[in-house]
Amino acid sequence: ERIISANLMMEDQAVELSLRPRYLAEYIGQTKVKENLTIYIEAAKLRKEALDHVLLYGPPGLGKTTLSTIIANELGVNLRITSGPAIERPGDLAALLTNLQEGDVLFIDEIHRLHRTVEEVLYPAMEDYALDIMIGKGPGARSVRLDLPPFTLIGATTRAGLLSAPLRDRFGVVSRLEYYNVDELAFIVSRAAEILGVSIVGEAAMEIAIRSRGTPRIANRLLKRVRDFAQVRGDGIITHTIAQGALELLQVDPQGLDHIDHKMLLAMMTTFSGRAVGLDTIAATIGEESQTIEDVNEPYLMQIGFLQRTPRGRIATDQAYKHLGLTPPERN
Ligand code: ADP
Repeated sequence: ERIISANLMMEDQAVELSLRPRYLAEYIGQTKVKENLTIYIEAAKLRKEALDHVLLYGPPGLGKTTLSTIIANELGVNLRITSGPAIERPGDLAALLTNLQEGDVLFIDEIHRLHRTVEEVLYPAMEDYALDIMIGKGPGARSVRLDLPPFTLIGATTRAGLLSAPLRDRFGVVSRLEYYNVDELAFIVSRAAEILGVSIVGEAAMEIAIRSRGTPRIANRLLKRVRDFAQVRGDGIITHTIAQGALELLQVDPQGLDHIDHKMLLAMMTTFSGRAVGLDTIAATIGEESQTIEDVNEPYLMQIGFLQRTPRGRIATDQAYKHLGLTPPERN
């Protein structure tokens, strides 16, 4: 379990529930997505219709689940939360759908991981608010169509490209969540500190923000650890020095890199002398799983311009060399 991983960990769960914004006005950043949703939500309410189906995509921890709870709150309807892998059989999805009330929101996280057979139940449900059920077996089998109440499906996934085309096409609203900038994250940290009842100075909130890899989930997790440090080593107030000390102890460097990011970049720079290297080779060299590197390390390293993907493999950029105090190689 790495502190800079954007995936949900056990330690996040209790705190995230209390820190989750409940209305659009409290949801920081993602301006374009918010503007669009505000209009669609208003229009749906005026027409007294269910909101169009919404697909949210982007890296973990950026607020997809939070946004879906906000959408349900703003619409004043119930929210059901499930995930692709949790829906094992078509019957499981049918049960979820038939329990919805008019206008309700069904949130399916990791929607790209739905079984094909389950996905097929979703098509008529999304398109016609209908459920096609097979009765009987063999030559006597027939299909019966059940009406469903109009509802809104919100699907979340890390990359829109992971969805099958027929599923993707059935979403009326497709929104991509972006990494947050440092000011937005500092705001999120200050707001979270207020809810948790800890005092934090502006510079300390900024320090946490800078090291949070653009991700609110990581920002909240770092804040929680820094708070513990402030209570044990200080007088409970999170000063800039306390924040720096705690983050150093947590081995999160001033750009939000941890020891695995360092190990990976160093291997690319020294073992492979800056040549382009394949993902699996890097993974094997540093003894990590390719999947972890692809999900946790790469997106952020690419985002801050430390890593480039080329057809021949990955390369560390000059910026990455400078960050680690090394001289970049001559490139032609
Ligand atoms: P995802 O579903 O994309 O993995 P979540 O919605 O679970 O991410 O967000 C993780 C946590 O980050 C939330 O519990 C919330 O506390 C915080 N968070 C996310 N987005 C925002 C935001 N825009 N403003 C404030 N806090 C946020």
